[in-house]
Amino acid sequence: MKRRGFLLATGAALAAPAILTAQTVQRVIVIGGGSAGMTAAARLIDAGVDVVLLEASDVLGGRMARDTTLADFPIDLGAEWIHNDPEVLGDILGLGWTLTDVETIVYRPQTYQFYDGGRLRNRNLLRFTYAETKFLDTTWYGFFERFVMEKIAPSVRLNTGVDWIEHSADGVRVRTTTGDVLEADRVIVATPISALQSGRIKIASGFEDWKSEALSEVGFGQGLKVFLKFREQFYPDILVEGSVWEQTDDSWDSKLYYNAAFGKDTSDNVLGLFNVAQGALPWSQLSADHLVQSVLEELDAIYDGAPRALFESAVTKLWSQEPNIGGSYSMDNNSDYDIEEILAPINGRIFFAGEALGGDAQSTVQGAAYSGVDAVERILG
Ligand SMILES: Cc1cc2nc3c(=O)[nH]c(=O)nc-3n(C[C@H](O)[C@H](O)[C@H](O)COP(=O)(O)OP(=O)(O)OC[C@H]3O[C@@H](n4cnc5c(N)ncnc54)[C@H](O)[C@@H]3O)c2cc1C
Repeated sequence: MKRRGFLLATGAALAAPAILTAQTVQRVIVIGGGSAGMTAAARLIDAGVDVVLLEASDVLGGRMARDTTLADFPIDLGAEWIHNDPEVLGDILGLGWTLTDVETIVYRPQTYQFYDGGRLRNRNLLRFTYAETKFLDTTWYGFFERFVMEKIAPSVRLNTGVDWIEHSADGVRVRTTTGDVLEADRVIVATPISALQSGRIKIASGFEDWKSEALSEVGFGQGLKVFLKFREQFYPDILVEGSVWEQTDDSWDSKLYYNAAFGKDTSDNVLGLFNVAQGALPWSQLSADHLVQSVLEELDAIYDGAPRALFESAVTKLWSQEPNIGGSYSMDNNSDYDIEEILAPINGRIFFAGEALGGDAQSTVQGAAYSGVDAVERILG
């Protein structure tokens, strides 16, 4: 291969030479700076590979995002729960299944209310069956900020979306939305599947029609989160509309109000709303202000006007309206193919990663991270 490095169309060299441990693969482009892309980039750097991570937006993190303005503790605007034991954090960092010094809490809500048929009922039995893990005083974004972002920083280019990928026997070429063309030995596409479904990223060859059709049958849900700060707490740890039984079905759809300050070291009263759906989610298309008013109206009906009287301020994240995400996460695959077949590596040049390839941990941060590691292992052999 004619190795010109990561050359801009202008011919400017972008990457300093590295001490190479992976002799056959010297340069890799990673597209997307979420959990999958950042983890892949970090592992490649550890292996001595030159990496350029291209991120379309102006921040890293993807569906991990943090707010520090609403309360005196940081709030996860996207991924929030650690859907596993705390040792998974060590595993994400490549340390094996081990505890890190990141403090976590057992998230075992104690009080549940169900609003069903115009009546509010206390049903606390779920406290015996449901528990997960959460961060004590950081967020998923904060975790990656502390352990990963600094390491990969020299390789990252923000505000650099990719819209075209082509490959040949010599390597890969990637075109950015700013018109630059970058070359490398391999590329890892670590964007949400929505980027391929919508055609925002096109692959010149090897991503045949059957793959596009099959990928269009993989659900990419709608999603939003809202956090409201109140002067007093009038709500339980968990509030849901509908009956207890409706919560035990295995649908991806979920609408859940929860005490976001649960277990945190704070006296702030913050109520969260997590709302995702595989189909239409009308609230996901509202403006932020309209969304907050709709939420307050709904809560006022349940708690007899107390919410509006006690309301101080709110933050929202409308994931469906994020231009580079366009929804929540992958859901049911209704195609005839496994996602691993649809997003199989192309010609040993183009590799895919992201939460949709998370296997048993699909749609989670750790599933995304593991898919990034998997792509790197395939590349490095
Ligand atoms: C509301 C919500 C709540 C969630 N809650 C949890 C939870 O509690 N626990 C949990 O584990 N998981 C949760 N998740 C899921 C979790 O956030 C995701 O599974 C995970 O963060 C996805 O990581 P990723 O790297 O696959 O993709 P992303 O984080 O989406 O990263 C992909 C990146 O690619 C960039 N990109 C897109 N297109 C382009 C392009 N053309 N060129 C360059 N860059 C591009 C995007 O800007 C983005 O930064 C939640 C998700 C949402 C939306």
